[in-house]
Amino acid sequence: MKAYICTLGCKVNQYESQAMMRLLQEHGYETAVFHPSLPDVGEAVLIVNSCTVTSESDRKLRQLVRRMRREHPQAILVVTGCMPQAFPDQAATLEADLVVGNAARGAIVEQLEALRRDRTPKVCVTPHDKTFERLSITSFEERTRAFVKIEDGCDRFCSYCIIPYARGRVRSRDPEDIRAELTALVKAGYREAVLVGINLTSYGKDTGRTLADAVDAACAVDGIERVRLGSLEPDHMTEELIARLKTQKKLCPQFHVALQSGCDATLRRMNRHYDTACFAQACQRLREAFPDAVFTTDILVGFPGETEADFEESLRFAEAMRFAKAHVFPYSRRAGTRADTMPDQVPQAEKAARAHRMSEACERVRRELLSEAVGSVQEVLCETRTADGAAVGYTRGYLPCRMTGACEAGQTVRVCVTEADSDGLTARIIG
Ligand code: SF4
Repeated sequence: MKAYICTLGCKVNQYESQAMMRLLQEHGYETAVFHPSLPDVGEAVLIVNSCTVTSESDRKLRQLVRRMRREHPQAILVVTGCMPQAFPDQAATLEADLVVGNAARGAIVEQLEALRRDRTPKVCVTPHDKTFERLSITSFEERTRAFVKIEDGCDRFCSYCIIPYARGRVRSRDPEDIRAELTALVKAGYREAVLVGINLTSYGKDTGRTLADAVDAACAVDGIERVRLGSLEPDHMTEELIARLKTQKKLCPQFHVALQSGCDATLRRMNRHYDTACFAQACQRLREAFPDAVFTTDILVGFPGETEADFEESLRFAEAMRFAKAHVFPYSRRAGTRADTMPDQVPQAEKAARAHRMSEACERVRRELLSEAVGSVQEVLCETRTADGAAVGYTRGYLPCRMTGACEAGQTVRVCVTEADSDGLTARIIG
């Protein structure tokens, strides 16, 4: 039987979709990625791995499920992921045949088989386990880089975020298990791994380890040439942790440190557990340890109570931090969170205007940083070739690079950067 999967949301969801595909394949299903333009799939299985980070995510999910039901009337429709885990009652009202929460995902094949036997719609949402869910992958959608989930859950309860309810408390993956998965990925041809989690830098909080133990495990795998990290919390970037990370030459100096706001009063209302001084110090420590460090971030604008002066403060701080890329989001209300009931909600138009100003400012910095790379020598892992024959890949700092000269996908080359524009770098292969 054929099963299509549609992934919404973050890198952890992408990993979990891949793991579900593997489970399904082991049970005889033929799997494929769902595409909205697919003609009627008949009696196949359609799985949506959902995200519930904003109310907008829920609205899009509802719309997608309705459309799938209309365009694939005989398909078995399954909704899994964060939305059913956080809001089981609302998930039960979706037009799905099977609703499976995050905690029950490992049993998705059994649930599907039961549904195919008795044809009775089911909702299966259970509390989270206290230990890391054992899932694994042996390949990934991208051909040279694989996301590897090493942590689940979050204990931080930012005032705007529903995720701790959808994902439960921090659970960390055993380093041996990380090593085993990466070894399998190397056999499948992967050279680069991105370690991801819901709150990555909380790794080991439940087992007495630290993120450095997971990085050591990943870097110890022969054949893995590059290891990257998902989102980092600034207050977790201690001197001790950075000193250990520094010893791993395979660790790429690309750090996504979540800022959210560059205004201390806003950060306090967000319950973000750090202030701008702490953030700047974390980046400074990383720069000292990794002189070629490249920083990226996420920024929320228009948080409840954010005044024009607060926004200006946030903008100035973001500019000073010189991010190579910033994902800027206007604050989106989420039912069930504290921020949703906070006074002084910022009007939609004002949020959009601030998001535009913040994006423009960050884009200006990005262009400056890319221009500064002209003339430098970089190491690039070649990923693919464009239609016009140019090789493309990413530098260790995750700057996109288009190259002239001979190289194959999966090959690491040294390049000299000749040009830069807002799309990335252009370079000549020199070795
Ligand atoms: S750190 Fe905050 S924003 Fe991130 S998942 Fe946890 S609660 Fe949500």
